[in-house]
Amino acid sequence: MSFTLGLKCRECGREYPAEPVHVCEFCFGPLEVKYNYDEIKLALTRDVIESRPANMWRYRELIPIDSEPTVGLHNGFTPLVRAKNLGKELGLNNLYIKNDSVCHPTLSFKDRVVAAAVNKAREFGYDTVACASTGNLANSVAAHAASAGMKSYVFIPHDLELTKVLGTSVYGTKLIGINGSYDDVNRFCSEVAAVFNWAFVNINIRPYYGDGSKTFGYEIAEQLGWAAPDNVIVPVAGSSLITKIHKAFKEFEGLGIIDKANSKIFAAQATGCSPVTTAIKAGMEDFKPVKPKTIAKSIAIGNPADGYYGIKVVGQTNGWGEDVNDQEIVDGIMLLAETEGIFTETAGGVCVGVTKKLCEQGRIKKDEVTVISITGQGLKTTEAVEDHLNSPVVIEPKLSIFKEIEKDL
Ligand SMILES: *Cc1c(COP(=O)(O)O)cnc(C)c1O
Ligand SMILES: [Zn+2]
Repeated sequence: MSFTLGLKCRECGREYPAEPVHVCEFCFGPLEVKYNYDEIKLALTRDVIESRPANMWRYRELIPIDSEPTVGLHNGFTPLVRAKNLGKELGLNNLYIKNDSVCHPTLSFKDRVVAAAVNKAREFGYDTVACASTGNLANSVAAHAASAGMKSYVFIPHDLELTKVLGTSVYGTKLIGINGSYDDVNRFCSEVAAVFNWAFVNINIRPYYGDGSKTFGYEIAEQLGWAAPDNVIVPVAGSSLITKIHKAFKEFEGLGIIDKANSKIFAAQATGCSPVTTAIKAGMEDFKPVKPKTIAKSIAIGNPADGYYGIKVVGQTNGWGEDVNDQEIVDGIMLLAETEGIFTETAGGVCVGVTKKLCEQGRIKKDEVTVISITGQGLKTTEAVEDHLNSPVVIEPKLSIFKEIEKDL
């Protein structure tokens, strides 16, 4: 059974049938999925959700596919970790880590959006999926296409981390490196999408894709005992996830699944690519595109598709935006690893670093319930930390030698 009522333009409100389109042909505003909340309210309660398996499909009425999912069946429902040690370090008594660095199957939150998009692409009858990616989306699209028995074309900037490249090509995808930044890749893919009849998950399938990330927010609320947190810190690339976490809390509030959704939403970016947080700090309504230069490649989007809406959500919720430089990103990765035993990629380092700044600025209070969004896995961006870590001490397997060096370890 379908709980969606087609698509709706976010700007002018014009409605469209559920088709693989993403832009309003009258005002060029982005199209969004329209839900039948009256029906959802009858079907989806806390009890129903809790009776279902621990994956993202426990919220299936709020994910825009019409039939039962056929790929990505085990994605989501990642741990919400009570982070006492990191909290102590930052002066926070109620700190949590939402840990999508262990999301199935490719270790980032992109598995949520891709699961929604690939199921939808199948419903539309496509045999080929594609994407423009900063790395994690590439991994996820390639993996889901393989398991769905579909063909895939993945377009990436030419200079991505080795593990993100290998972690894509291993699935047998057709992988194309573009000379240029992600924004060049994205522009080029719009041209390709106009000519080839493929399901580009973040272009023509974007309205369905984006709503997969709402599950990140639903899970946080459920795992907090059916309550929205006071603060959420979110890494921003195209600025989709940040708007969808907010939407998730608001939907749960509207459906009566949680009481109140008054969370402050905080945007986190790298200083070397911070169009959204720069606009927030300057009090601007919209952002100026930038040329990315940062080690946080997964979130290096200089011209974010939903940047305008991300800025708006932060403003509406009385949140804020901050950014951190490359050294602070590395420090953030290491701080999370050393305090909580969680190895995140550069985007997670950005979030931890930004949280630290927000605490120092007094924007996050010590007893508030605060959630840091950890969206990707550290083993995929080892380049970021390799020069900052000690190599092992190599010795002969002799006790006398070990005793000699042990005191200096
Ligand atoms: C893509 C990505 C993001 C941000 O996603 P948007 O929805 O485009 O803002 C954050 N973290 C990681 C690790 C990502 O790969
Ligand atoms: Zn419109």
